[in-house]
Amino acid sequence: MSERKPSWLRAKLPTSPSYKSVRGIVEEHELHTVCQSARCPNMGECWSRRTATLMILGNTCTRACTFCAIQTGRPTELDLGEPARVAMAVKRMGLKHAVITSVSRDDLKDGGAGVWAATIRAIRYKNPETAIEVLIPDFRGNLDQLDIVLDAEPDILNHNFETVPRLQRPVRKTANWEITSKVLEHAKSRGFTTKTGIMLGIGEEQDEIEETMRHFADIKIDIVTIGQYLQPTKEHRKMTRWVQPEEFEHWKQFGLDLGIGVVESGALVRSSYHADEQSDRFVRKGEPKTEDAAVATATA
Ligand code: SF4
Repeated sequence: MSERKPSWLRAKLPTSPSYKSVRGIVEEHELHTVCQSARCPNMGECWSRRTATLMILGNTCTRACTFCAIQTGRPTELDLGEPARVAMAVKRMGLKHAVITSVSRDDLKDGGAGVWAATIRAIRYKNPETAIEVLIPDFRGNLDQLDIVLDAEPDILNHNFETVPRLQRPVRKTANWEITSKVLEHAKSRGFTTKTGIMLGIGEEQDEIEETMRHFADIKIDIVTIGQYLQPTKEHRKMTRWVQPEEFEHWKQFGLDLGIGVVESGALVRSSYHADEQSDRFVRKGEPKTEDAAVATATA
């Protein structure tokens, strides 16, 4: 396999004034973004469109997934001022659709669910018109913790399978197929719009992708994203192939034929890439909440 990136993967350079403005807002509010921490190739484009995915609960993850560039270790931060700063940053960026994610915080008693809920409520309070999509960790399958997040009423509940069943252990280590299914099925049973994603080029076979997509349809996932895996460093899991644009198109059609509402499939597609456009059909607004409620929920 050639190491050279194919032409369809060469992303735009970050030069626009909007890019600089987004970077300024992120820095000023002392926030982290998954765009930077995961070395996303779309930063030039997304930040120029004034969208960024803010990452809460610090910048150090307690997991060590073999595909992910986010630093791993024992986090020290628990920043209860973060929800309010995230809400301000969303306002200053003028987002109509905010995507928030977090590192996994297995070190916290509630897995970070309290800060998650406080963040959703703070965004809603300051930005009542903004749709809120949350790309959450698995809370180790603890449904009480998941319910704390769902009770804050995000518009879209996103949690990634990342890959096919056979590769869950080598790719995700402690996360797994059953727990991820349980998280998404629980959110669906409570009436939420659900979303998930996988990477291709990480060792999967074609029949395994089919099996995976059928499972997504079975558990009634509303939105699926499929993108090219890019190996962040030599220490990370090897990329196995460049997936051709025609194959991405094939999986999009395959998913739509299974009845999945939205399938975004392409080399540069990431969970949050053009999320505002994918999800317009599904967003359900929560009620604005008071700032007091936001603070009271930060119990972690
Ligand atoms: S695709 Fe998502 S993570 Fe990547 S730059 Fe865009 S918003 Fe950030």
